[in-house]
This record gives sequence, C-alpha cells and structure tokens, in this order.
Amino acid sequence: MNNSFACHAIPNTPGPFLVDGFKLITKSPSTKHFFLSHFHGDHYGGLRDTFDAGIIYCTPTTRALAIRVLGVNPNRFIALDFNVRTNIAGIYVTLFDANHCPGAALLQFELPNGTTHIHTGDFRFYPKMLSYNWKSPIDTIFLDTTYGKPIHQFLPQNEAIQLAIDTCKDNNSNGRTLFLIGAYNIGKEKLVLPIGQELKVKIGVEPNKMNGQLTCIYPDSDLRESLFTIDSHETNVHVCRMNFCGEMWPFFRPNFINMETFLDQMNQLVDENQGEMKYERVCGIIPTGWAGTSKWNREHATSQKGRATVVLIPYSEHSSYSELTSFVKGMKPRHVEPIVFSDANDRHAILNRFAGFCDRNSNKRKFFNQMMGGGGGSKSSKSKSSKRSSSTSSSSSISSSTTALLVEKKVKKEGEAERFAREIKEATRASMMTCSSSLSSSSSSPDNVIDLSLDESPVSSPLSGLPSPKIKQKKKESPKKKQAKLSFFNK
Ligand SMILES: [Zn+2]
Repeated sequence: MNNSFACHAIPNTPGPFLVDGFKLITKSPSTKHFFLSHFHGDHYGGLRDTFDAGIIYCTPTTRALAIRVLGVNPNRFIALDFNVRTNIAGIYVTLFDANHCPGAALLQFELPNGTTHIHTGDFRFYPKMLSYNWKSPIDTIFLDTTYGKPIHQFLPQNEAIQLAIDTCKDNNSNGRTLFLIGAYNIGKEKLVLPIGQELKVKIGVEPNKMNGQLTCIYPDSDLRESLFTIDSHETNVHVCRMNFCGEMWPFFRPNFINMETFLDQMNQLVDENQGEMKYERVCGIIPTGWAGTSKWNREHATSQKGRATVVLIPYSEHSSYSELTSFVKGMKPRHVEPIVFSDANDRHAILNRFAGFCDRNSNKRKFFNQMMGGGGGSKSSKSKSSKRSSSTSSSSSISSSTTALLVEKKVKKEGEAERFAREIKEATRASMMTCSSSLSSSSSSPDNVIDLSLDESPVSSPLSGLPSPKIKQKKKESPKKKQAKLSFFNK
C-alpha cells in the first residue's frame, strides 16, 4: 500500500479519518479516528504498543491480532462487526467482508452530505460483493490496485485451490513427500486447509504462529488443534514463509537449497524416532498472483532440481484486473483512487485505466437530489442501493437517483432548473415517503445501527463517552506433548 496521504485520508471526515495510516500519525495530529482494514504488515505499519493517538476501529479478529502480536492497549480499540452501520463522529461506517485474510474488511463511510466513500483495504472480489448494502451515490473508491494492470489475470479462487490440491496429490508418492506451502503471517488458510483435508493430515506450523496469530483466528482450541499442529512428526504438510521456496521479485527464482536443507533436517528427526519412514522428496507450493504475469514465470511455474520440486500456483487473495473492473463497473463511483502504485506515472496510468468504468455524472445527480430536498443522503442512497440489494422491496423502484436523471435531462432541455426541481420535489414527495417505509426494513434497519457519537466533541476527546470494548481473557495454552524441534522458518 502506498504511503501517500491521499491513499489513507477519507475526505470531509473529522480529523480526517485515516485508514491504515499509522505511519501518518505525525502528519495528521488532528486525526482521532483510525481504521485498520486488516492485519497485514503493509497496512498496520506504524502501529506500536505505545499508540495513544485516538481510537482504532476494526473487526474483532483484527483487534485480537493487533493486541496479541503488537501489544497495543486493548482500550484503544472499538471492534465493529460486519454489516453493522455505526455512527462515528457523525459519519456512518459499515464494514463488509473483504474475502482477503481473516478479519479483513471493506470500509464504507457515509457522509452527512449524502455521498459515500469506500476504502477496500485489500480484497478479492466476488460477484456477491455488489449486493452488499452500499449507499450511493459513491464518490470515491480507494481501490486495492495490487493487480491494477490488464496483464494481471489468474484463476478463480476455487480453481486455484483445486490446482494446488491436485499438485500435492500428484507429487505425494507413497506419502514420502514433504510439502512446504508459502504463506504470510496470516492468510492463505483457504488454500492450505483443503490441502490438509485432502491428504488427511493437519497443517504443520511454527509454535509462535500456533500460540500467536492462530489463537486469534481460531479462538476455539479444540478446532485449532484439529486443524494445525506444531508436531513435526504428525504431518508432511508444513506452512513456511512466502519466499522460503523461492523469490518472486523481480522474477521467480527457486530456492532448492532451502528446500533440501529442510528435507535433510526432517529426515534427521526421523532418524531419532526409529521406525518412521524417511522422506524422499520435498515439494514447495508458492500461491501467488504473480505466477502468470511474465513469460519467465509461466515457463518456470514448475521447477525441479535434485530431490526438490517447486510449483507456482496462481492463487491470490487480491482481485485480478478483470475482477477489479467488474467491481468498479458495478459500483459506479465518481472516482477511483488507487492505493497500490509504484510512482506518479503508475498512479496516473491506473487512473486512466479505471476512469472509463466510473460514473462522472454522480455529482450532477447529487446536486439535483439536493435540490429536491433529498440531500440528507439516506433517502437517495437507500433508494439506489436497494437496486443492488436483493433484500429490499420492489416498492423502492421509484428511486430518487432515477428521478434525478429525469430532472437532469429536463433541465438541459428547458434551462429552468430551479422551477423544475421544485415541481419534481412536490410530485415525488409522496412516493419517497412510500419508499422510506420499505427501506427501513432493509439490512440497515435500526436494529443494525450503532451510535457511537455519544460525545458532543469526539474529536477532542476520543475516549470519553465511548463504550468500553469487551476484552476476552486469554486462555492459557497447554504445552504440546511433542514440540517441533525446527525453527527453520524463522531464519
Ligand atoms: Zn493484505
């Protein structure tokens, strides 16, 4: 994620609100409301255990990870559940599942002027996302452009997972192959766990991951220990860091030495436990969206040397370029702000690429909406979002945005904006009131709204008036009977 202020600051919010902007704390001393989209290092970067600049809003899983791994004061967080509208200093904020790592969220900010900003953090698009309870008109989408070029195409997630499973089955000769699956500190569980299920083994992890991140993602110890193990003898499928079996940048270079050294160390442990079979081969799996982005990578997607084989699997928890375009086309924002780019030229190229998918007239519609008196945003936005949401009533089909389009056309023709808007306002008032009753029963019903704006001046005193977050007591971990002797992945 780029460190420029424009990638993190939500316009027209108090402070302003910062998303994943902990490196910008000193540049924005008036910010008291911080949002953490998910717990990956390039997004929580700058967050320390000494953080005291304000309140951090995130999902319960992300909160647990930040407390456990970074030691941030639990009282500095307010956890927000998915799909709940929360009033934070006058801005309605809603988090939606980002289909990225555990706890990752898309963030929606509804401004008092009736427009909406969306920050994606990191996300993997799937069509159902268009049915989330978005409020429109959408002004800006701060977009995860990790794969913001047309060359970035890869398999749908389920197909990539199946490819990884098939690769492991094909290479699992007599159960005497060691598998190493690349992963970040969290993430890739959707790929790793099905491999373990298919091979009927648990997933081997380092003790620090078992007793750290995984306790936050799988708080139920029985479930956690049914899926993962720190016992090297209990499985031939192990998680390793992403670049353990090979570097991906600037082009793929396998690391056969790492892999064979690991194989030898595991066989040495087997020697100490007489009766166990030795492993004959080692197979590395690198799940990455960069697998097919160059001729070199495609030609070396399966590389072999000695007893080691490494395979690139085109699996990603970011959206491909075509998925990004589907998202933007469906959401119709006025503007896309890329949050991943290398330099000004790269940003400009991405802006040009996505401009054609934006709705540049949304401001005009907003203007006419306000002229009609619907400028509070809730009516107009709810009407338009009801088109996307299957849960809302068809009675809301007379949307204010549709009416605004009619107004716009009429005004162009007659040049009598004010008079016509007044007439439309009178004519549509009755239908708008009819719509509001059905909309109030949608997923944004009062039961699904939390008001945290209890303080008249939340910016100056962020902690006062806010409910204390619930803090779960950490459950003491029982020591595993056999501790893995390897700490190889930490090197
Ligand atoms: Zn991420």
